[in-house]
Amino acid sequence: MTKPRLFTAEAESATAQSAVVALSGIEAAAARIAGRIEHTPLVASPSLSRLCGQPVHLKLETRQPIGAFKLRGAMNAVLGLTDDQRRRGLVTASTGNHGRAVAYTARELGLAATICMSARVPANKVEAIRALGAEVRIVGRSQDDAQVEVERLVAEQGLTPIPPFDDPEIVAGQGTIGLELVADLPELACVLIPLSGGGLAAGIAVAVEALRPSTRIIGVSMERGAAMEAAIAAGRPIDVVEEETLADSLGGGIGLANRVTFALCRDLIDEIVLLSEAEIAAGIRHAALVENEIVEGAGAVGIAALLAGKVEPQGPTALIISGRNIDDAAHRRIVSGASA
Ligand SMILES: *Cc1c(COP(=O)(O)O)cnc(C)c1O
Repeated sequence: MTKPRLFTAEAESATAQSAVVALSGIEAAAARIAGRIEHTPLVASPSLSRLCGQPVHLKLETRQPIGAFKLRGAMNAVLGLTDDQRRRGLVTASTGNHGRAVAYTARELGLAATICMSARVPANKVEAIRALGAEVRIVGRSQDDAQVEVERLVAEQGLTPIPPFDDPEIVAGQGTIGLELVADLPELACVLIPLSGGGLAAGIAVAVEALRPSTRIIGVSMERGAAMEAAIAAGRPIDVVEEETLADSLGGGIGLANRVTFALCRDLIDEIVLLSEAEIAAGIRHAALVENEIVEGAGAVGIAALLAGKVEPQGPTALIISGRNIDDAAHRRIVSGASA
């Protein structure tokens, strides 16, 4: 996959859609959420640098208060609401980390939050959200079922929806990672970004494309249910069957009525890499045993892509280590090598 650089009519209309999120929106988000989220560390990985023959750095979003980057987008979106929207209470559907981010944001700002999620979501993630004081509703077997419940609560009870990725304020919030990357590693040449609904990848890509246009943007997903990859290949959002995967935070579709992230990811991502479950497990294991970091499957896909030799970076490279919220028992099992 290459960026549509040719000035065809199609590329021009795609570029017009992409302007939904601009660098100025990301800079505004950074100012708004400053002091409420961490400017996370960017640390060198001697081991991965040796492996690749290039400087490789880990962007540790695991160090956010909720253990994942999703706080950036949620905090930005909620701080942008009117008083009336805030008073009605927040509602969202989530595979875990976005729900946790909305719950944390609600608690910080003194608001009510209801989090709808499917029965597939791991128990540790459900408990973490309850512990943050939000109401949890378990609905159906897929994110789509949970989303239907969100729409019902919005229509019938007037709650304020906070979408997980397909929203300009969410994308702008996640894009603040891109600003930090360029500030902390001005010679950035390549970035590997875990890819699901595309809020993270779109936000970082808009920032990095504006500030360091030659940087290679690589999205990384699992083979089992890579919704954005399938959509880009098909030329439009399509239904993708949700499957069990070690990268559970990357599960779910991008929405058939996707408004924001599909066009941005299609236009700005240079390449998408897909990983097997064994490769993802190897990434989690390396993170724990070599980098000394507890990282969930979704957060370890950048490491996994390098270990598997599926990406050969040229120049200083950053891996977005997007989250650490993995069930303890599952983590021990994977690290000990008991499950591939
Ligand atoms: C949500 C999430 C992602 C993917 O983010 P999208 O914006 O949906 O692409 C990656 N890693 C972790 C840990 C997540 O929680």
